[in-house]
Parts: sequence; C-alpha cells; structure tokens
Amino acid sequence: MNLDFTSDNATGASPEIMKAIVAANDGTAPAYGADEWSRRAEQALAQVFEREIAVFLVATGTAANALAISALVQPWGAALCHGFAHVAADECGAPEFFAGGAKLASVAGAAGKITPQTLADTLELMPRGIVKQAQPMALSLAQATECGSAYSLAEIAALSDMAHAAALGVHMDGARFANALVTLGCSPADMSWRAGVDVLSFGATKNGALACEAVIFFDPAKAEDFAYRRKRGGHTLSKGRLLGCQMLAYLEDGRWLRTAAHANLMAARLEAGLRGLAGVRLPWAREANEVFAIVPRAAHDRLQKEGARYHVWTPRALEREARPNAGEVFVRLISSFATQPAAIDRFVAVAGGG
Ligand SMILES: *Cc1c(COP(=O)(O)O)cnc(C)c1O
Repeated sequence: MNLDFTSDNATGASPEIMKAIVAANDGTAPAYGADEWSRRAEQALAQVFEREIAVFLVATGTAANALAISALVQPWGAALCHGFAHVAADECGAPEFFAGGAKLASVAGAAGKITPQTLADTLELMPRGIVKQAQPMALSLAQATECGSAYSLAEIAALSDMAHAAALGVHMDGARFANALVTLGCSPADMSWRAGVDVLSFGATKNGALACEAVIFFDPAKAEDFAYRRKRGGHTLSKGRLLGCQMLAYLEDGRWLRTAAHANLMAARLEAGLRGLAGVRLPWAREANEVFAIVPRAAHDRLQKEGARYHVWTPRALEREARPNAGEVFVRLISSFATQPAAIDRFVAVAGGG
C-alpha cells in the first residue's frame, strides 16, 4: 500500500489533466500563450474570480511568487512575510533575485500566521523615509500557510487593510489556495480581492496539474509590465498551450474544488485517527490538507519499518513549550487528491501499534 505522505507534489498529475495535455498536444497552435486554451483558461479564471483580471501562467510556484513580489517591490524595498513562509525559506532567494535585490522582512506569529500585532511590530522597525532602511512595499500572505493553517476572511481583510494603510501591496501565495478555500467554504473572490489581495499566486500543481500556476492581478492596470517580467525571467513557455490546457482542465466543472475537498477530507480522516491514539499531540489546527503531529518515537519507528514516508519537521516551528521531548518526533503529513482512505487507515493502525 502507498503510504507516501511527504507532499501533495509527490503525487503526479490527475488523469483528467494528463488527458487534456495529450489532447492539446495534437496539431499546431500559436506560441507564447497566444493560443485558444490559454485564452479560455483566462476567461475561466475571470469567471471563478467574478471580475476582470490579468492572468499570467507559469510552470512553478516559485516563479509565480517571485515574479508577483517583484511586481510589487522596488529593488530598495522590502516584502514582509512570515518567517516560515515558502517565499523566505524554500525559494532559494528567487523573490529577492527577481525583485532586483529587494529584501524579505520576516514577521512572527504562531502556526505560520501573521497577526495585526506582529505586522505592526515589523512595520514599526521599518520606518518609511529613512534612507538606510529598505522601504516596506508589500505584504505576502500564504493561504494555506506552511503550518497547514488558514487565515479567516476577517484576518485577511484586517492584514490587508493595515498593509494598504501603510502603502504596501498585498500578495497571496496560494499554492494551496483550493485547500484553504474548501475549508473556509467561501468564494474565491471573498478569499482574495474582496479581502484586499492585490496579486495572487494561484496554485494548480499540488492539486492535480502537471506544472501550472497562475499569477493573477485583480487590477489589470497594475500588470502592464508583467509580460516583460515573465519573459525576462525565463518563464514564458513557448508551447504555452500546454499550460493553458492544464488550467482549463483544472477549473472545468469545479474539478479543482473536488480534488481539494478530497485531499482535505483525507487529512481530516488522518487527523481524527491520530487524535484517537495515546501519546499523539497535534500542535496546530488543521485547516487544509496538511497534518502536523508530535508522535511517540516508537510509532515513528513502526511507520518507518512499514515503509511510510513523510517529513520529520523542525521543532523550531513550534512554540518552545510544545516542542517534542526525546521520546517524540514531530512530523508533517500531507494528503493529495489521490490519497486513498485505506492508506490513511493503515497509517493510523501502524502508528497505533496495530
Ligand atoms: C509548494 C509551494 C509553493 C510552490 O513551490 P514550487 O516547488 O516552486 O512549485 C509555493 N508556496 C507554498 C506555500 C508551497 O507549499
């Protein structure tokens, strides 16, 4: 049985999206995104977000985030993000590189979430107009976060309001936008522009695409230069239709919401199973398709022997008092659109000693 919970990108593309790629592969089409699939994907996204938008498809989440941040931040500026944020910890300096050497400034907060207080604290350390100080120009929020938590609509709106009041643009890293959306049960518009988000990295890869993410500007006027940025950054695919067809198939008939709902359901099943085991602690609320758990070392050893795969996570992500002791291991478990309930049940049984 496949007990791989390392990440939702350990899973390949969904069969429907693979089929769409094979179909779009036939024949010829205009290059560099001037094709029919890309046009229809842009229209589908405009419908999903209930407004006119500017859409730029790219092949990786790192490209989406780095290019989006570069559009909001001058080389002498700073983008504020959580200290654990993917943009800060997992993109090898790409946002700084694409933004011409701009700075990422880290903001604190439990469970991967920035709060109005921690945002105010960081802003206070970066007074505007001091020439020796990088100027704050953007706030980047991950939805869902790297800790598997999600911001509520009120939280996004409060942080966006503060950012806008301080003349910062708001970027959302939505590599797991669909997973957070399903949990909140709101509309995509509510979780983005209506809550104050200016630019969104809309992920599809982790939730079923082969390699496709969209950078979405909710004010198309702000996107005037972005085509040049993307091309200059080497992220304008000449066979752009093979991106467009992925996004189109992803959105078709709400497929993206079904795959995310399934991944979340599997994570909820895992969470419930682990909660029932003696000696297991769950430090954070599960609000997407990621479960973080502190498990007895004996359970970890049994799981390893069974061939289960997952990441052992850094205890530094936890509040000091919640950190594992020598007999415990902190782990991250991620489900995907392809995770089977039987795999969850087996994992929980092995963890419990069965
Ligand atoms: C996976 C992920 C990304 C995208 O990463 P790539 O590997 O570059 O596609 C971005 N943000 C978050 C929070 C992620 O988990």
